[in-house]
Amino acid sequence: MRGLAGKKVLITGAASGIGRATATRFYEEGSELILNDVVPAERADLASAFPERMTYVPADVSRPEGLAALEQAVRDKKGIDVLVNNAGITRDKSLAKLSPEDWDQVIAVNLTAVFKLCQMAAAFMKDQKSGVILNAASVVAHYGNFGQANYVATKAGVIGLTKTLARELGRSGIRVNAVAPGFILTDMVRKVPKENLDAIAGQTPLKRLGDPAEIASVYAFLASDDASYMTGAVIDVNGGLVLG
Ligand code: NAD
Repeated sequence: MRGLAGKKVLITGAASGIGRATATRFYEEGSELILNDVVPAERADLASAFPERMTYVPADVSRPEGLAALEQAVRDKKGIDVLVNNAGITRDKSLAKLSPEDWDQVIAVNLTAVFKLCQMAAAFMKDQKSGVILNAASVVAHYGNFGQANYVATKAGVIGLTKTLARELGRSGIRVNAVAPGFILTDMVRKVPKENLDAIAGQTPLKRLGDPAEIASVYAFLASDDASYMTGAVIDVNGGLVLG
């Protein structure tokens, strides 16, 4: 992809799943990585995978001190070119059983932290007059999902946030896009019973779940100069599960 070598890329939730695959892809493209996850460095186990051009910032994006640590890391690097707001959690329960804590925690990680990190990164990007922000939406934002009122609300919120920031930041040379993955085989999805996953794969035109690398490649494209006229887009990467 054009224009990713040497770029400073911050990826949240990078220890596993889509975040880790995205880190791998940007690393292969020659980018400089600031990787974040809530787990300690030993558990994240990123140093051997990324022996150079990588700084790990263990931090909870839903906590003020976590956000402050990320802002400091960006300041230490003297800026940020690409922010991938990937960290996300589920706390699945049907409406009557969903506690205020289940609601608040999912909103805090999946939506409020995305807003705050966009605000932090945009301040640096405005000074540079360039930058790309990429946010993790989900296919379920399009059609809802049983037991995921909190999660779906955040992913629909991320889409609205992405479109609004694209309008506000375009004049500063900052592009803002979202990716809406379908069902991708990661720890998050492995919690779903196998028979449900088989049924989803069966309903998917490509007849399988996705691989994290298939989301990572779309993030890399959107961050690259090959996508220089794309902003405010929500890219569906779902094997055709939802069309239109
Ligand atoms: P995952 O559970 O494999 O990875 C999420 C990572 O985020 C983990 O490493 C976790 O430790 C980290 N994390 C959680 N809370 C955090 C916090 N407070 N601060 C920092 N890091 C934190 O999940 P995944 O499937 O790779 O999901 C990545 C993103 O893609 C999420 O936003 C998710 O909602 C979205 N997504 C995933 C799928 C899918 O099918 N897997 C589909 C649509 C959207």
